[in-house]
Amino acid sequence: MNKGKKLYEGKAKIIYEGPEKGTAIQHFKDDATAFNNLKKSTVEGKGVLNNRISEHILNNLNQIGIKTHLIKRLNMREQLVKLVEIIPVEFIVRNIATGSLTKRLGIPDGTVLSKPLIEYSYKNDELGDPLVAREHVLEFKWIDSENTLKFINDRCLRINDFMLGMFRGVGIKLVDFKLEFGIANVDGIREIVLADEISPDTCRLWDVVSEKKLDKDRFRKDLGNIIQAYQEVARRLGIIHEESNVSEVKFGKPKAVNLKKK
Ligand code: C5P
Repeated sequence: MNKGKKLYEGKAKIIYEGPEKGTAIQHFKDDATAFNNLKKSTVEGKGVLNNRISEHILNNLNQIGIKTHLIKRLNMREQLVKLVEIIPVEFIVRNIATGSLTKRLGIPDGTVLSKPLIEYSYKNDELGDPLVAREHVLEFKWIDSENTLKFINDRCLRINDFMLGMFRGVGIKLVDFKLEFGIANVDGIREIVLADEISPDTCRLWDVVSEKKLDKDRFRKDLGNIIQAYQEVARRLGIIHEESNVSEVKFGKPKAVNLKKK
């Protein structure tokens, strides 16, 4: 499929103009970043896995009536999506306290929350995506009305319910995740759809028994075996099979070779 011009390049994805009006192509890169770009690396095969995992989750959400930007996966790294105007708010949904929540408030890591907590961050790289209150979201018109905000909050909780069950069924705790929404123009009608991706880059996923981290925290905290963890998630969800050979390429230091004397 022919790509148009590059519209936007983010830390882990590129958005190109799509083949038809109102469409775009979302390309998944292997780049990994953390701590607002302070830590950067390339994780060979990550984009391929995130493309497949996100396709799987968004298709499932579509089936339960949640509108998303996904039209179809095109190939190993690309998806055809609806062109949307991204709402500049990240919706963070938490079931268990960890990450920035525990750091900010001193809550013990791993505290199970009595009900899902939704937090809002203002999407702005220069400011480091600061946490904001719902009043900021409405005052600065990042979201146009209380009704729209309520609609998106309800969507977040429905998505959380669904994903909690989906992951629980394959032995994974859904600790927290980030969602982005966009406004698509469908035949002149503006509709709010789930956008971006849902993958181990944007979720925290812990094995139910061992609490092993199967997500981007392996990169953030230098735990190693990043690709193996993402593969494990894809395997458990039934997306890839045992024999899959997407693997992290490690470049070791060149070793001196002693040539045998003839
Ligand atoms: O860092 P923090 O604890 O606030 O992250 C909460 C959740 O949101 C994590 O699952 C993290 O991967 C996700 N997140 C994200 N993109 C961001 C910030 C957070 O995917 N810019």
